[in-house]
Amino acid sequence: MKFLVTGGAGYIGSHMVKFLLSKNHEVTVFDNLSTGKLINKNKINFIKVNLLNRKKLDQLMSKKKFDAVFHFAALSIVNESEKKPRKYYMNNVLGTKNLINSMIKYKLNNLIFSSSASVYGAPKTKKILETHQMKPISEYGKNKKEIEKILAQIGKKKNFKSISFRYFNAAGADESAKIGENHKPETHLIPKILNSIKRKQKKVYIYGNSYKTIDGTCVRDYIHVNDIVRAHYYGLKKFRQKKCILNYNIGSGKGYSVLEIINGIEKVTRVKLKIIYKKKRKGDPPILVADCKKIFKDLRWKPKYKNIDKILLTAWQWHKKPFI
Ligand code: UDP
Repeated sequence: MKFLVTGGAGYIGSHMVKFLLSKNHEVTVFDNLSTGKLINKNKINFIKVNLLNRKKLDQLMSKKKFDAVFHFAALSIVNESEKKPRKYYMNNVLGTKNLINSMIKYKLNNLIFSSSASVYGAPKTKKILETHQMKPISEYGKNKKEIEKILAQIGKKKNFKSISFRYFNAAGADESAKIGENHKPETHLIPKILNSIKRKQKKVYIYGNSYKTIDGTCVRDYIHVNDIVRAHYYGLKKFRQKKCILNYNIGSGKGYSVLEIINGIEKVTRVKLKIIYKKKRKGDPPILVADCKKIFKDLRWKPKYKNIDKILLTAWQWHKKPFI
């Protein structure tokens, strides 16, 4: 089949590309190369394009009939979205609207959208179901919610099918250690600490230790990037339905505190870290853990990486390489 992957040079997008190629699909990547790394260059059709350039987008979309579009291209640093809301709105909302409108113009109907657990805001329940209220507390979360709303509206009126996957905390790297997580600047807990270790720095910062959790630090649901990618692939079967406006959590259903993650990293890297407590980061909910009943049942998907140390090990195997 023919697939378009926007953001195919980014963290999750590059893993999606690798997976699709392994299944012998034809892959086109649209990416502005603002972050990320392009691999398998000779096996894909790569086009450098900014989704805000509607004219170029239309030109490109008119040329190929994709069976589905995987839309990963987005800015994704929650903290930065608070400081630069306009930049985030332009990229994440207007860029995506352009993509959707161009798809509709050229009769491409199937979109898989990278949404996020940040659409929920502060959780009201221990584990979060898809039916949980959507009250995002960050600009990034608001961007994702807005697109989900648009997809629902269009799906009701037109023959436009979409699946929004709400990721919890994507983590780890492909076991080939050729691709992995690398944001600039790096703010995410696991890659940030692994970067420090690689630079022989032992200090790590924990933002807040007075949350109402097992050890006072924030709890998150970490899910391996290749499990996320597999869920996207399983999602494709839903496009056979006449109508398709779906959303699914992707998580493991299990939470780990920041301290537990740091312990895991110490174990995997065999480096003893020096913890420094800092004040809470704005907009951090104490606990974010997915309830994944819906995706388990509907897509018959389950995470293969159930052990957090294994996830951390894949991340470390990539991070410790010299080229990053
Ligand atoms: N965190 C931390 N120190 C860091 C980076 C992150 O204590 O250097 C915490 C952060 O406050 C959050 C958790 O680790 O509770 C996960 O943060 P990350 O940015 O990786 O993902 P988020 O859950 O914010 O999307």
